Amino acid sequence: MKPVIALVGRPNVGKSTLFNRLTKTRDAIVADFAGLTRDRHYGNGKLGVHEYIVIDTGGFEPDAASGIYKEMAKQTRQAVAEADVVIFVVDARAGISAQDHDIANYLRKLGKPTVLTANKSEGMTDGVQFSEFFELGLGEVLPVSASHGQGMRSLVDLALAPL
Ligand code: GDP
Ligand code: MG
Repeated sequence: MKPVIALVGRPNVGKSTLFNRLTKTRDAIVADFAGLTRDRHYGNGKLGVHEYIVIDTGGFEPDAASGIYKEMAKQTRQAVAEADVVIFVVDARAGISAQDHDIANYLRKLGKPTVLTANKSEGMTDGVQFSEFFELGLGEVLPVSASHGQGMRSLVDLALAPL
């Protein structure tokens, strides 16, 4: 059985772009606006020695009261439950938001293996720019760029090597 990776994060951080990179397809819907990929979406991937299944998710709003946001949150929870490891994606350029904190708290409580990754970090070489993400309490952050294909191998190694 291949390990299952769930991509989790608030809308627009680049989960679907990362999904496409990790699966070498363009199957997920990449939106130029927040929250278009509303269903869970599965793909097969292979990178280096690792073979895996990736689940893309819509945005994540743990406290969403109703409607589509509630459904998105439910789908994401189901994806996380199915996964062996979670890749929690934050936006290196936007920095930490309240939603990021909510998601981090949820993942910490769950205790599922979680890799924190800061996407959109192409051209950002100063480590200090990433230090704020320690606040999320999920350890070190791995800078990647899904759209430029940077850090993909490190990310998959970090996520799957311990399994
Ligand atoms: P999702 O809502 O988390 O699935 O995010 P998407 O994958 O739909 O991407 C949201 C926006 O961020 C799109 O305009 C992407 O082109 C852009 N994006 C994704 N990855 C990167 C990246 O590594 N660098 C930059 N600069 N933009 C990115
Ligand atoms: Mg998406």
